[in-house]
Amino acid sequence: MDGQDILRVSGLKRSYLVGDVTVHALRGVDLAIPKGQFVAVVGASGSGKSTLMNILGLLDNPSSGHYFLAGEDVSGFDRDRRAILRNRVIGFVFQNFNLLPRTSALEQVELPLLYNGKDWPAAERHERAQRLLDLVGLGARGDHTPSQLSGGQQQRVAIARSLVNEPELLLADEPTGNLDSRTSLEIMEVLQRLNRERGITIILITHEPDIAEYTDRVVRIRDGHIVEDTPNARRRDAAAEVKALPPPEVVEA
Ligand code: ADP
Ligand code: MG
Repeated sequence: MDGQDILRVSGLKRSYLVGDVTVHALRGVDLAIPKGQFVAVVGASGSGKSTLMNILGLLDNPSSGHYFLAGEDVSGFDRDRRAILRNRVIGFVFQNFNLLPRTSALEQVELPLLYNGKDWPAAERHERAQRLLDLVGLGARGDHTPSQLSGGQQQRVAIARSLVNEPELLLADEPTGNLDSRTSLEIMEVLQRLNRERGITIILITHEPDIAEYTDRVVRIRDGHIVEDTPNARRRDAAAEVKALPPPEVVEA
């Protein structure tokens, strides 16, 4: 594979046995993604997007086919080797934020550091988590729990958490799926900034066509096949569009 590719899959298939019926979620996917690209994977509900994301994220194994990630053929990796590589290389962001209730934003961001095999002194953990909350514009909310934060703020915490082990690759499954359009744009601004300034490769799954316009490349899946793969030479600039919006309405409590 090309040395500039962060990942490549070939002939990727995944089927599920449901009762006595086999569901073919991926029917042979070939895809290479260069380092630093911001890719949208689009398609209708049920087309296989999350199945692909789970395999690319080393959360699931394909039924057949090959997967090369960060220069390694991970197709034959067992659960432990997958987990080690996953923690080192990949960050995840989900539609439902997946935050812990009754846990402060700062602690949420620190938590992955406790499981990365390194013994981080508490002060360094706090400092790194605080820097990431600053980066996503939530530096003053470190002591807030999810119920004290808006949906957009919760997603920012989840993005900060996804970055704490310094991943090269960010996988985001419908990250704006539960957010209004203004908040979605603000989240795209954060993701574009991470991609542009830190060179993080991002694969963003969405069924919203306009969200894909903020990425470099649109890969469309239908019924477990890639049916379209189009570069987007003129990606929209979310930061400029956020600035041009009227100020948000202030809702009195
Ligand atoms: P998308 O994310 O595009 O909505 P999915 O990858 O979740 O699509 O699903 C693709 C197909 O695989 C669907 O038909 C879905 O019902 C099926 N599927 C996904 N996960 C499972 C599972 N764990 N068990 C059985 N079927 C599944
Ligand atoms: Mg899905």
